[in-house]
Amino acid sequence: MPVSFAEEIQDYVKTDAMQGRDAQTSFVNFMNDKYGHNRDMLKLRYQRFLALVNNKDVTRDKEKIAFLRTEREAFALDRNQRRAYEHAFLDIGYGVTISGPHLVMRMTSALDVQPSDKVLEIGTGSGYQSAVLAHLTNQVHSVEIIEPLHKRTRDVFDNLVKNGRAEFENIKLKSDDGYHGWSEFAPFNKIIVTCAVDHIPPPLLQQLAPNGIMVIPVGPPGKQTLLKVTKEVDEQGKTTITRQDVYNGRLSVSFVPFTKADGGTWNGKGPH
Ligand code: SAH
Repeated sequence: MPVSFAEEIQDYVKTDAMQGRDAQTSFVNFMNDKYGHNRDMLKLRYQRFLALVNNKDVTRDKEKIAFLRTEREAFALDRNQRRAYEHAFLDIGYGVTISGPHLVMRMTSALDVQPSDKVLEIGTGSGYQSAVLAHLTNQVHSVEIIEPLHKRTRDVFDNLVKNGRAEFENIKLKSDDGYHGWSEFAPFNKIIVTCAVDHIPPPLLQQLAPNGIMVIPVGPPGKQTLLKVTKEVDEQGKTTITRQDVYNGRLSVSFVPFTKADGGTWNGKGPH
């Protein structure tokens, strides 16, 4: 029986034993042989991985594996290749940015994606977040409002699939205003919003499945709280929504605005 990638990569996720140079070299050789990923990028990926583990941005094996497998450099602009694994957001063109690896992995971990989960992302951007999620479930859906960016990312994924990245084959992308979710595929077990708004969009809450989790940056421009929103439905059908700060008040986050098709933002448009 073929050994799965997850089984093969187990040694690298056990970081207490794997902090040394040998572990990095062995990881770089393994990924380069198997997937042809660039060696310099793999070194940077492994160094960033150790920092994420240290900071508890990622704690479970499944998310560690998802991070180690995802070629962030493929989603960064040419001019940012050397910066692909920095602890920083990166410009991806069209006036928008991709969040730093620590934030992407905090959000991914807060969702606790199960293999059977249907996931919706609002704000495809570069596609990096979708790519990470695609290692946790094969039901990833993502909506992007900037059409040329959607098209560019569609091409990035098509090329990766052509080069053997079958994991990305099932990612469904569309260009639209994600405020309205994606009703055709609703309900979703997990929803991740990567643009900021001052309220939780009611259509997204509605498209969240019972016992689903949504992670969303909520607050004013430049200073949002990263919320983990859960929707519980009891046996009588009563729905309870709970909100929790992923960073427990230690940190605020800053995401690009949740925009409308006419160029304005959705701030102030929520239920009052
Ligand atoms: N998850 C992305 C981050 C991109 S930044 C990544 O991994 O690269 C946030 C994205 O949200 C931007 O691309 C922005 O254009 C998009 N966005 C903003 N408002 C939106 C809306 N109403 N619907 C869908 N996408 C939106």
